[in-house]
Amino acid sequence: PYDVLVVGGGPAGASAAIYAARKGIRTGIVAERFGGQVLDTMSIENFISVKSTEGPKLVASLEEHVKDYGIDVLNLQRVRHVEKKDMFEVELDNGAILKSRTVIASTGASWRKLGVPGEEEFANKGVAYCAHCDGPLFEGKDVAVVGGGNSGVEAAIDLAGIVNHVTVLEFSDTLKADEVLQNSLAKLPNVTVVKNAQTTEITGSDNVNGIKYLDRETNEEKQIDLQGVFVQIGLVPNTGWLDNTVEKNRIGEVVVDKHGATTVSGLFAAGDCTDSVYNQIIISMGSGATAALGAFDYLIRNPIE
Ligand code: FAD
Repeated sequence: PYDVLVVGGGPAGASAAIYAARKGIRTGIVAERFGGQVLDTMSIENFISVKSTEGPKLVASLEEHVKDYGIDVLNLQRVRHVEKKDMFEVELDNGAILKSRTVIASTGASWRKLGVPGEEEFANKGVAYCAHCDGPLFEGKDVAVVGGGNSGVEAAIDLAGIVNHVTVLEFSDTLKADEVLQNSLAKLPNVTVVKNAQTTEITGSDNVNGIKYLDRETNEEKQIDLQGVFVQIGLVPNTGWLDNTVEKNRIGEVVVDKHGATTVSGLFAAGDCTDSVYNQIIISMGSGATAALGAFDYLIRNPIE
């Protein structure tokens, strides 16, 4: 059995595993896709101390660092269930069961997709999901933000300082963002808000060149020429495998304390699958370190009899 089994191989999981292994305890990582969201990222300019890098390059460094500690990496394996008996039993999709004294859940999150034609085809070719990350690539261009909740309006405010023009497309007849954010948005000269807009297609040839939407009031199809689309309709935490074993918040994120501990003793969590307020690589790595140190504290206080 492992002392620490990390479920998820993104920045949170890699960091947790390295911190755990540095304590000289038996550590494993099981990941559906080692690298996580970072593999899908084109350029990273806010990973402090590295001025600029690309997602796959950062993942290769993570893997090299993890391997340096002799951590067992079970890649391309999905966990479907965990149960606490005398130890944790972590069940994989292929039926195998891994045993561990502690588990660190770091299964991240997935952007909620629009599910319209063009979204997948132009991913990383004008379709983006993270304004902090990819905003600067659209300097001087015209973009749309789909979604008028807090994240959409924040993204629009952020982008308005960089791009030429931002159109916010909101499905319902009101923006859902906090009033202070809406007030800031209303003051910006280069932002247009379109309500009752149901996005129907993202168009392009090599890269995005426009967006089509249905005006739900008039039932008319409309089109805007632009070079970028930021989809901001929420993140879905990958926490289904935890069932109802741990406390989660309203949107399914695992609730953790300052030690990265969940409501099940010995089960820790880190990164985007938790109720952490901001989702970034550097933040996930920090919380992965916290969860590993929390798990180590737990192990030395609960020795095997
Ligand atoms: P993830 O990276 O989501 O990793 C989750 C891991 O868990 C993966 O290995 C996944 O395969 C695995 N997994 C999921 N479910 C299971 C399961 N059931 N069983 C086994 N394994 C499972 N942040 C920045 O700081 N800077 C940027 O420039 C930046 N750009 C971004 C661009 C894009 C397009 C995206 C999508 C995100 C970007 N982010 C950026 C955000 C950043 O990538 C995330 O905050 C970070 O990756 C979260 O790390 P994580 O380890 O918590 O989760």
